[in-house]
Amino acid sequence: MKTLEFIVREISDNQSARHEVWVPPAEIDLELEEAQFVGEIHGHLQLSRRAEDVYVKGSFSTSVEVECRCCVESFTTSILGDIEVQFCPADATTPSAPWQADTGERYYLGDTIDLSEEVRQSLILEIPNWPLCSETCKGLCPQCGENLNVTDCGCQIAEEASSPFAALADLLDRSDRALES
Ligand SMILES: [Zn+2]
Ligand SMILES: [Zn+2]
Repeated sequence: MKTLEFIVREISDNQSARHEVWVPPAEIDLELEEAQFVGEIHGHLQLSRRAEDVYVKGSFSTSVEVECRCCVESFTTSILGDIEVQFCPADATTPSAPWQADTGERYYLGDTIDLSEEVRQSLILEIPNWPLCSETCKGLCPQCGENLNVTDCGCQIAEEASSPFAALADLLDRSDRALES
């Protein structure tokens, strides 16, 4: 049984139960290329059941290692995800997939609810899509490729050379001069 699976009849009726969980990332299929999940996912869950419907609320925190878009160094950042789900038992009229992401309805088959996909989605949403190791990351030297956060390579880079407009201005300047002569 997975950490995020719960047996419905074991959830007390009309009473909310709190659970603290530690989930290995591999268990909920969080092995991604763009972000390495570091360590376990720590979560706090609140489960309550009314007859056969189960209501779940939870918050999860973990750390991911990502690559800075500016200096390409890897760094670790923490992310938080929240879930809030209402599960209903599947019956003959229920679509065959236990998952109806578009309608927001969740069904469980048999006697077990599985929060894995919910938690997985909530954490994937929180992975920064433009990670920066710091707001003041200096990036790489355009000339020698050194990480400017670590070393001052001393390359003399003309301020204008780094702007594409500067190159254009330079070109216009030259054609101006060619016209004059
Ligand atoms: Zn950086
Ligand atoms: Zn340099």
